[in-house]
Amino acid sequence: MPEKEVLVKAEHVKVYFKGKTRKSGTVKAVDDVSFDIMKGETFGVVGESGCGKSTLGRTLVRLQKPTEGNIYLDGKNISDMKGAELKQMRKEAQIIFQDPSACLNPRRTVRQILMEPFEIHNLKGQVDVEARIQELMSLVGLDTYHLSRYPHELSGGQKQRIGIARALALEPKIIICDEAVSALDVSVQAQVLNLLQELKEKLGLTYFFISHNLNVVYQVSDRVGVMYLGRMVEIADYDQLYEKRYHPYTEALLSAIPQVDQDAQSERIRLQGEVPSPSNPPSGCHFHTRCPKACDKCRAEVPELREIEPGHFVACHLYG
Ligand code: SF4
Repeated sequence: MPEKEVLVKAEHVKVYFKGKTRKSGTVKAVDDVSFDIMKGETFGVVGESGCGKSTLGRTLVRLQKPTEGNIYLDGKNISDMKGAELKQMRKEAQIIFQDPSACLNPRRTVRQILMEPFEIHNLKGQVDVEARIQELMSLVGLDTYHLSRYPHELSGGQKQRIGIARALALEPKIIICDEAVSALDVSVQAQVLNLLQELKEKLGLTYFFISHNLNVVYQVSDRVGVMYLGRMVEIADYDQLYEKRYHPYTEALLSAIPQVDQDAQSERIRLQGEVPSPSNPPSGCHFHTRCPKACDKCRAEVPELREIEPGHFVACHLYG
């Protein structure tokens, strides 16, 4: 089998925010994260609310600058890009947000919304924009009569399709889907997930798919990364993770997913306590305050993300 090519390489990425007051300290939203995204794959990221997955997604498209570390997109370091170089890079990495209503300008028609990327990048003279807009509507399964409509005249699913069409407009190399189906009804959610899958196959897209819902991440991902309090604690192929997860946090997340086969259903592991604040994370392994398997070493030392089987990475002292 041919070697897969790396599209995105994140190396020791940290994103820290200063708290509003001196007492609130520094929020470590992303805390030393390294991983690769391969060309043509869907890399799913799952974790509880506040674990840093959305900040990481925004950093990969440079809507957020990393505090430390490097991010390479197709071999180019995008971490410090600015000006024209950054603008050019943004054509190659797009993002789809959770709430399509919040990101579609209510005063613009669908046609005007889809024209925006070509206006921003001064492409109107170089591209047959009208033809491209018609093509985008067809790609996302919408009739062109919607082009004269305003966002409030569309359903939630149609709005998200417009969000996807806009993200596709400039033929990006990667699309960050940030809770892209979380605000939709379950049936519409399934249609949008199918559409994303079809587009990936048809256009050879790469996705970084963020969700708090492991079930949704499982449906679409080739590989899955599990985040806890700013750190990546387990990364593996979908199949590997389904068969065997090592990190106690992943185990707890998976035990909450209902299985069709009742015999395969593991007993639900209920985690104790709240997720600690990212402005004051626990020492050592951030998960030690809730981990049923924690020991003294866990409180003192940060576990490194290690490859314990080919392609299966875990950050836990039990596998050090
Ligand atoms: Fe639990 Fe320790 Fe492993 Fe952290 S390092 S997940 S606290 S066993």
